[in-house]
Amino acid sequence: MFFSDKLLSSKAKALQPYVAGLQPQDCGWVKLNTNENPYPPSPKVLDAIKNINISKLCLYPDGDSFALKKAIADDVDLAPENIFCGNGSDEVLALAFQAFFSGKTNIHTPDISYGFYPVWGNMYDAKLIFHPVTSNFAINPDDYVDAKGVILANPNAPTSLALELDQIEQILLRSLNGVVLVDEAYIDFANVKSAVALLKKYENLLLVRTFSKSHSLAGMRVGYAIGHPFLINALKLVRDSFNSYPLDTLAQTIAIAAIKDRGYLLKTCSQVIETRDKIILRLHELGYHVLPSQTNFILIKTQSAKELYDYLLKNKVLTRYWDKPRLSNYLRVSIGTNEDMEVFYKCVREFTTAKQTKLKSKQL
Ligand code: PMP
Repeated sequence: MFFSDKLLSSKAKALQPYVAGLQPQDCGWVKLNTNENPYPPSPKVLDAIKNINISKLCLYPDGDSFALKKAIADDVDLAPENIFCGNGSDEVLALAFQAFFSGKTNIHTPDISYGFYPVWGNMYDAKLIFHPVTSNFAINPDDYVDAKGVILANPNAPTSLALELDQIEQILLRSLNGVVLVDEAYIDFANVKSAVALLKKYENLLLVRTFSKSHSLAGMRVGYAIGHPFLINALKLVRDSFNSYPLDTLAQTIAIAAIKDRGYLLKTCSQVIETRDKIILRLHELGYHVLPSQTNFILIKTQSAKELYDYLLKNKVLTRYWDKPRLSNYLRVSIGTNEDMEVFYKCVREFTTAKQTKLKSKQL
């Protein structure tokens, strides 16, 4: 067989895939590059795994994840008809692009946001209009007018900043003729309210969330959407034209155990928030500007972002750097345990002191 691009579909040839953060498989890394939770999932998850009836695994799973939908619905005080589950929120978002944005023009999104949105825009022929965030990286709700669709993350990534509920409502009020999709992957780390409160008033609002961050289950790949049953049915329509069993039995069982343990979620999230606020203060003391984070990661501004990234990498501390317009002077760092952040902090301090000493010797 002679392999060449001629074997590919025109669609495949035009793809520009998302580049995810590294997942090193060897030990010894302080891994602060993909916004995972540093704590294990709820102990109830292990109980659920121990109690699983393995004879059930010879059967296909419940394609619609009803028991999980019920547990999520109870958590947000809505009905299972308002919930859709998928294999990670990335899958739910991709299905939403196909259901609501594909083939359309005038889909509004911030110019700095989750890097996967433009990838899906390209893959599903949705014409995105990118609204520049301000010089402080804030989203201006006034920009989002008469959209045929809106996609934004709140809190936003990688900026770590969040819009207040009334700002989300301003966006909804000005774009009633398209689906407004708010990706709430990081909402449990924020001190702004979730847009769940707006769902009864705005039937065009769709929220997408994940178990990967606040529930410490990135390895299980569970995400979900919350919205009007009309929107949920549209997602099912696309799902069932693609893969009718996206979530396996184990993932459904584990996610149910995790979402029922609200106390554990609150405990681990407040630990992450406490560690985050402490490291921000210490970085300020070293002279760095850090955006006021509402997430489980921080964005540090420094002219030496790439150099700092490389220095940390050499010391086996993984962070995230993008050589892209507007982001090249920033480093994104996920919040780990206090021990992880101590290793990170010491490296940053060493790097900073060495830089300052070099600068002084040049000035003499
Ligand atoms: N949305 C945002 C804003 C994210 O940062 C991520 C994680 N990279 C996701 C969605 C996807 O999360 P997952 O597929 O793990 O649910």
